[in-house]
Amino acid sequence: MPQFDKKLFIPGPVEVAPEILAAMATPMVGHRMKEYAEMHARVKVGLKKLMFTEQRVLLSTSSAFGIMEGAIRNLVGKRCANFCNGAFSDKWHDVTLRCGKEADAFKAEWGQPITAELVDKALATGKYDAITLIHNETSTGVMSPLPEICEVLRRYPDVVSIIDTVSSMSAVKIPLDELGIDCCIFGVQKAFALPPGLAVFTASEKALARAAAVPNRGYYFDFLEFAVNDDKDNTPSTPCISQIAALDVQLQRFFAEGLENRWARHAHMAEFVRSWAKESGYGLFPEERFCSQTLTCASNVRGTDLAALKKMLGDRGYAFDDGYGKIKGKTFRIAHMGDMQLKDLKEFTAVITECLGIIG
Ligand SMILES: *Cc1c(COP(=O)(O)O)cnc(C)c1O
Repeated sequence: MPQFDKKLFIPGPVEVAPEILAAMATPMVGHRMKEYAEMHARVKVGLKKLMFTEQRVLLSTSSAFGIMEGAIRNLVGKRCANFCNGAFSDKWHDVTLRCGKEADAFKAEWGQPITAELVDKALATGKYDAITLIHNETSTGVMSPLPEICEVLRRYPDVVSIIDTVSSMSAVKIPLDELGIDCCIFGVQKAFALPPGLAVFTASEKALARAAAVPNRGYYFDFLEFAVNDDKDNTPSTPCISQIAALDVQLQRFFAEGLENRWARHAHMAEFVRSWAKESGYGLFPEERFCSQTLTCASNVRGTDLAALKKMLGDRGYAFDDGYGKIKGKTFRIAHMGDMQLKDLKEFTAVITECLGIIG
């Protein structure tokens, strides 16, 4: 067996608890057997409670980008407005075009949030019937103000909202029905702290009606196929049963911790890492009020040789992220999501401080 011996402080995949790894080793079941449907139903109940939704909650055996592409194929009729403020949202625009859809990118600088004003300006043109937006841009550590944006979306009832919460769902409160989100998407290897390969998404009645009117949805990600199977607590094709078993256990762990406690733990961890970064002579890449609760993207104003720091931390058994895409080396990211505890971050930041003492 391969040996992976670094403790992960990168923003995904993140550390997976031993109980979760053990749940992955549950003996196999057939996905058309009643035992599977019982588990699937239980997982749906937990996810609905977590997301404050009565909409359909569906399980996709893919990474997040699978269903991010699927949502484009199902929900974009006329033209899509892609809101872009980092690597993942930029990519989503590219994916929209690759699906053969008409689309425009509305860009904010990397490090800036998507604002309600920008969304309003785009939708006021009347050109769009769908939008994509990333709540927490993992590449830049920016969390956009979802409640304000959703307030604007209410004025455009014909627009289907597709929102990526890959690195925020469960770490902060995101009440889907109150916000009026039509399709919320997340993969499980970040804020959920499961191994990668499963994505969760929701579909409102409006989203399903749109899908019914859109041709060429394909099969694997056809929302209507998902809906038909959902009525039987099932999926169109064979799902990643082991990961769903792990999700079943993880949801129980979330509720045992308590959602309020979980949100508070993330807020404390975020505050701790931001303070450490500032005290250590780094800046925060986003403006502080838009800083993510699940990862800190620090700007390297101290001019540290981040590649050397990464190597040194690797030798000590820690996986460190020295920035993503065009801001690699200019920024670094520390994840504080999933099952991570304040003590893990105290340990990690102390080791970084020690390394900085050596490399300067
Ligand atoms: C990681 C990430 C993705 C991509 O997820 P995959 O599981 O690699 O497909 C999409 N959006 C955000 C915000 C992410 O952090």
